[in-house]
Amino acid sequence: MTRLVLVGPPGAGKGTQAGTLSDKLGVPHISTGDLFRAHIGNKTELGLSVQSILDEGKLVPDEVTNQMVRERLAEADARDGFILDGFPRNIAQAEVLGAILAESGQKLDAVVEFQIDEDVVVARLLGRGRTDDNEEVIRHRQHIYRSETEPLLNFYRDIVVTVDAVGEVGEVTNRVLNALDK
Ligand code: AMP
Repeated sequence: MTRLVLVGPPGAGKGTQAGTLSDKLGVPHISTGDLFRAHIGNKTELGLSVQSILDEGKLVPDEVTNQMVRERLAEADARDGFILDGFPRNIAQAEVLGAILAESGQKLDAVVEFQIDEDVVVARLLGRGRTDDNEEVIRHRQHIYRSETEPLLNFYRDIVVTVDAVGEVGEVTNRVLNALDK
């Protein structure tokens, strides 16, 4: 159970949980949002091209995102597993991920759904202070989640495990590990 995708609305705590799970399971945490923010921070060509997209809470074009993920998954540390956080975010990305993994005879073990009310996440995000965390952008990101990302739960229905994301960090981690039977 070491090839995992975390799915849940922005603000559900996926990043925090991914970090803890990465330590516990010994596989890298791969966050496409973090990868984009690192590019932006380093002012790379990719970073400069995606900055305004992140600031507006829109999705970076699939070709750009998929290529970045393909390169990251090809690194040695991801060979025996990974925790993907923020990718895939739509069905087209999920299909590309399936194809990338199939090229090396791999497949996902589970998709962890973080279940949480929208009101709770909006309040959390407003307290986080990231440049893409003002109310209008937050609403837009929630809208994209519902329309583009949530359908992944049906796409992956055979391997989805659902976890209540409300609670202390450690408590939620334990729920995930129990759900994965770790
Ligand atoms: P996150 O840190 O996961 O909330 O992602 C922050 C921002 O990065 C998103 O609002 C998008 O602009 C961009 N992003 C992250 N992951 C993806 C993805 N899989 N596809 C497209 N854009 C993404």
